[in-house]
Amino acid sequence: MSQTEINRQVVILGSGPAGLTAALYASRAQLEPIVIDGPQPGGQLTITTDVENYPGFSAGIMGPELMNEFRAQAERFGTEIINVWIDKIDLSKRPFTLFGKESEDSEGITTIIKAETLIISTGASAKWLGIPGEAPVPEGLGGNGVSACATCDGFFFRGKPVVIVGGGDTAMEEAMFLTRFASKVVLMHRRDEFRASKIMQERVFAHEKIEIMWHTEVREILGTKEEGVTGVRIYNNQTKEESIFPTEGVFIAIGHKPNTELFKGWLEMDEVGYLKTEGRTMKTNIAGVFACGDAQDSYYRQAVTAAGTGCMAAIDAERFLVEHGEQEQKNTATNW
Ligand code: NDP
Repeated sequence: MSQTEINRQVVILGSGPAGLTAALYASRAQLEPIVIDGPQPGGQLTITTDVENYPGFSAGIMGPELMNEFRAQAERFGTEIINVWIDKIDLSKRPFTLFGKESEDSEGITTIIKAETLIISTGASAKWLGIPGEAPVPEGLGGNGVSACATCDGFFFRGKPVVIVGGGDTAMEEAMFLTRFASKVVLMHRRDEFRASKIMQERVFAHEKIEIMWHTEVREILGTKEEGVTGVRIYNNQTKEESIFPTEGVFIAIGHKPNTELFKGWLEMDEVGYLKTEGRTMKTNIAGVFACGDAQDSYYRQAVTAAGTGCMAAIDAERFLVEHGEQEQKNTATNW
């Protein structure tokens, strides 16, 4: 099998807001970056509908359209974007080596990528229940009444009843946020106690708009493409009874998982898998490797903050290359 070898000063892994912003900055600094698309090119925004909280779009913009703009802007300055599945990496020395396959399931390495600097922007994925009706449109109602982000989609449920699933701090925070819009918020949890912090629980217990249903497992999301969500099929694991509960929106808040499996054993991460960076920089524990966006940030997790850290990672990478002699400072007033 023939192998393609690619050598770059800046290789960016992941093409969400963080990765494409890093690419925009790196390409404008004439570093000719290459972006490697992940399994979900464009990242989590491509599975949402209207994005109303990204600054600069007063009328809002569709998630996929916003990401097309990010992509086109990075490409305009010379960013190359390729689609390969990175199977393994070697960060033991520079240049770092990435071994790519055609897809996750294919056999054999087809692309070897050598990187003087590596920017990791592989994002995070919301955890889902894996139940019928939950998949993104068109297969299911995801993005059409089912969401994993109250900050992004809460506004669309003004005056409507919603259900939220989970028992951690994310579920508490999202439930509180949803009370601003929804007529009623029903929090469904599979046990009879929350794992969330006491203070967050107390706020939820005290809120008049929030009702809690314990021992409740959501087993199916009901609705149609035309009507959106109409209800959920629930199972009470104490009484062993199944029933239909009407609602117009379902928020899944059972946690996020950073997409950082590939870096285990190389990069420092917290117990959940978020990559650790040094102080106010995007530097990881390996010199020349930077991390940004949701793979690195478990706290804010917004498109605009991901874009911000992508910019920071590109600036860190450019400075690293200057300090290590690979990149002549072409222009002292770099055209960021
Ligand atoms: P957690 O892992 O803390 O909680 C996940 C919740 O979802 C648990 O209650 C769990 O139930 C439930 N759950 C998981 N899988 C399923 C499933 N398949 N079906 C039904 N329920 C399920 O995740 P969070 O995202 O809430 O929090 C992650 C971290 O981020 C925590 O450390 C948290 O403190 C922090 N955080 C802090 C915030 C703040 O301080 N403002 C805000 C948001 C998050 P069970 O309890 O039964 O396991």
